[in-house]
Amino acid sequence: MSNRNDIAFEGLSIDGVRVKGSAGDVTEIFDPSNGKKIATVAQASVTDVEHTVEIAHQRFIKGTWKSMNSRTRGQLLQKVADLIRDKLDYLAKLESQNAGKPINAAKGEIAAAANCFEYYAGAVNKIYGQTIPGAADGSLLTFREPLGVCALITPWNFPFLITSWKVAPALAMGNCVVIKPAGVTPLSALALADLTVEAGIPSGVVNVLAGPGSLTGEALIAHPLIRKISFTGSTEIGKHIMKVAADGIKRVSLELGGKSANIVFADTELEICIESSLFSAFDNAGQDCCSRSRFLVEEKIFDLFVTQFVDRTKAMKIGPTNLEETEMGPLITSQQRKSVCNYLDVGDKEGAERLCGGDIPEDGVLANGNYLTPAVYVKVNADMRIMQEEIFGPVVCIMPFKTEEEAVTLANNSVYGLSGSIWTRDVSRALRVARAFETGMISINSSSSVHIEAPFGGMKQSGMGREQGMVALEHYSELKSVFIANE
Ligand code: NAP
Ligand code: MG
Repeated sequence: MSNRNDIAFEGLSIDGVRVKGSAGDVTEIFDPSNGKKIATVAQASVTDVEHTVEIAHQRFIKGTWKSMNSRTRGQLLQKVADLIRDKLDYLAKLESQNAGKPINAAKGEIAAAANCFEYYAGAVNKIYGQTIPGAADGSLLTFREPLGVCALITPWNFPFLITSWKVAPALAMGNCVVIKPAGVTPLSALALADLTVEAGIPSGVVNVLAGPGSLTGEALIAHPLIRKISFTGSTEIGKHIMKVAADGIKRVSLELGGKSANIVFADTELEICIESSLFSAFDNAGQDCCSRSRFLVEEKIFDLFVTQFVDRTKAMKIGPTNLEETEMGPLITSQQRKSVCNYLDVGDKEGAERLCGGDIPEDGVLANGNYLTPAVYVKVNADMRIMQEEIFGPVVCIMPFKTEEEAVTLANNSVYGLSGSIWTRDVSRALRVARAFETGMISINSSSSVHIEAPFGGMKQSGMGREQGMVALEHYSELKSVFIANE
């Protein structure tokens, strides 16, 4: 792992070993910032899926993992956290190259993944059953038990971090996992599997099957020995997964799309608000489910806010991902850029006014990457497609409101409800709006949605279930009731 060539062959990770796919299929992986090939990756066939799930199931029922002393299991998870920190530079470069992330952002995500493993290392022996008062003729107890083999299906926008949010709590509860990373970003999940082996986690507990969602993913979610599917990605595939899971009454957690609101009242600290809002809209080139892509700004400061926000957007440093000063990198693929550009056409045709952005750099160092300059729309109305649909790119719409009530109505006018921000110095108003806001995660005077200690997930069509925090452990376990007769 430490001497990975620029163009490496990466096998699947099955039972602790890297192997070729049984059908011999491979896919090529490219750096989104310059179009260069960086790896060739084996693709898992349906046979590989069946074989791997069977192995993981055998490891689950016969293996030492779920029955291991919880303190020892925690120590092994801590070892994974330590190894991630030891290899932070390597992993950050890998993630930056594969997912087109500015190197500083990639370093932050790898560090956050280490914190995630550390959190669940400590949580392993802090999730308890209950003793329940009740029957006089005996005692009532509950046990929290692992589910079995969990299918973890991950997207391309935060590949290593989102994989960690699923793997760490699943393992903490004693489950075995089969990870299906996104087709274009499999490299860091494969690296994580290597680290779990290096840490001493028994083979077969963590497996990674790269391959297309339509084949590898389908076979995995339909497999009868899969007890739980944890999915992050589009709402469309999330709905499909729920339907497939219904057949086997498989447990499902879904973290789906968003179209989150950024509500700005006139009494905000404007400079702080603008800088943070910029980050919330354009971080990861806007390919972030928590992105606040609908700005609702109180009429009194609307013009001032728009002028300052557009100035700052135009000054964003868009550049090669290996430079420390780069603020925004490329989109993940040319298809994703095309999809975003189609939305720009829609917005223009709907009559919204684009104040900046939407340009494709055609010369110089950025020309071979999937770059797109960040776009800002005004003169939007609440029902336009660009206000309703998740664009998943660097596009933000700004709309004025007059009253608090109107701001809440506009914010809730969405099928989604993942995150959102409220900017005001009035504490009572902030709490009133937070209570009325139909969304899973709210930041007040902040754009931050991710705190490993707190539940992460959405309302409405943004998903179901929660990741992170102690609650994630409940989603990777069953509750069993036991009655013991007195005699
Ligand atoms: P997607 O199709 O939902 O993909 C997410 C994951 O599901 C990938 O690993 C994908 O594999 C897999 N998958 C696809 N079809 C599957 C199936 N039938 N059965 C099992 N697994 C399947 O998302 P996308 O196509 O990459 O992106 C499309 C849109 O989804 C984006 O534009 C964005 O709106 C949204 N999205 C949201 C998030 C989020 O964080 N909530 C993340 C990514 C994308 P393959 O990659 O091999 O197809
Ligand atoms: Mg897809």
